[in-house]
Amino acid sequence: MIIPAFDVFCDDITKIYEKFKFDTTGTAAPYIPHMRTLGAEKWGLSICTVDGQRFSLGNYDEFFTIQSTCTPVTYAITLNELGEELVHKYQGRKPSGRMFNEIVLDDNNKPHNPLVNSGAIMSAALILELVKPELEDMAAKFEFVHNYFKEMAGMEEVKFNNSVFLTERSSADRNFALAYFMRENKCFPPGVDIKKILDFHFQLCSLEMTCESSSVMAATLAKGGVCPITGQRVLASEAVQNVLALMYSCGMYNYSGQFAFEVGLPAKSGGGGTLMLVIPNVMGITLWSPCLDNLGNSVRGVQFCKELIKTYHFHRFDGV
Ligand code: GLU
Repeated sequence: MIIPAFDVFCDDITKIYEKFKFDTTGTAAPYIPHMRTLGAEKWGLSICTVDGQRFSLGNYDEFFTIQSTCTPVTYAITLNELGEELVHKYQGRKPSGRMFNEIVLDDNNKPHNPLVNSGAIMSAALILELVKPELEDMAAKFEFVHNYFKEMAGMEEVKFNNSVFLTERSSADRNFALAYFMRENKCFPPGVDIKKILDFHFQLCSLEMTCESSSVMAATLAKGGVCPITGQRVLASEAVQNVLALMYSCGMYNYSGQFAFEVGLPAKSGGGGTLMLVIPNVMGITLWSPCLDNLGNSVRGVQFCKELIKTYHFHRFDGV
């Protein structure tokens, strides 16, 4: 057993969870109208270890749209299917130091990294244009990616929220501006259709998971690409290494550097209030609370992570 006294561990986790239960500071993401209808009291947590021990609390089985927590997975898919060299002809690998949806590219005219909006749009473009060219239509591409998500989540349900997709698409001026800016700068492989790429991007952001299924996905990353529930190798370990490196440096919006300093673990948060935390070779944790701070991270999620590493020495540089 990777966590021998799992019941003691779960008691400690419960105490940390309870500590933030009544903290409803922060606001739901304004660019996801649907989020405003959710109550600030929503607070869920799930843990899945690399050997399949599981624990959940609160609103752990409610579905939420995964928003940009899809980006480590879409980046992983491009790496797994196309290899690092080709993917990084189109993607940078450093923090942008700017807002996640800012209209800006790095010194080489590439998105700074695959976890900000420009990079997420690029991953969608690479999947549509370069991955499995034999899959011709959008439906087949969507199924292909959907399947990756399901396999990473141990075949637990991964749904799609059509109303969030439609609302996001109808209020997407910023992402359209970003994509046209990228096309003007010749970022994409030739022949891309901006409307199709963005539709695909919004569809992936509108996939719905629960803390439970998302924690299995995080645990698959923690286990180097092997799903701890099914035992299936979903991703090559080289791909996972790259994903975790960028989650570590770029996964928490403009708080990424500070999060790496304070918590010292790879993570990705999303506008729906999810925070997916990976403790390599140990476990995946997904926290969900829609109240976000002014950088876009879940307030309770960040507080939980900071408190966790006070109790357990999971910080990567602990013990040096
Ligand atoms: N669908 C959102 C967008 O494209 C995702 C934002 C996020 O979760 O960071 O703007």
